[in-house]
Amino acid sequence: MKWCARCGNCRWVCEAHPDQPWLGARACTCGAAGAPCPVCNQSDESTAPDLPEGFQADVESSRQLPRYTGVDMDDPDRPEVEHLGTVLSAAS
Ligand SMILES: [Zn+2]
Ligand SMILES: [Zn+2]
Repeated sequence: MKWCARCGNCRWVCEAHPDQPWLGARACTCGAAGAPCPVCNQSDESTAPDLPEGFQADVESSRQLPRYTGVDMDDPDRPEVEHLGTVLSAAS
């Protein structure tokens, strides 16, 4: 498995700081929820993101993990293109 510099290979990044790992030695400490790493843990409507190792047992009760609905417009990694499209169409 190749090393992912984005998330430090933990597969999750900070939701508020998507360039910082959510777990591990370099984990962001801002307290925001985690988000799947856009580099190595991409997900779509039919594929849920991989959970960090050791988190499977905690998924039900964990409030740290983001709600995964498949189409999450609050996901900071996905809607940038749509935001841009909205801005462009609004400006024209
Ligand atoms: Zn953060
Ligand atoms: Zn990654």
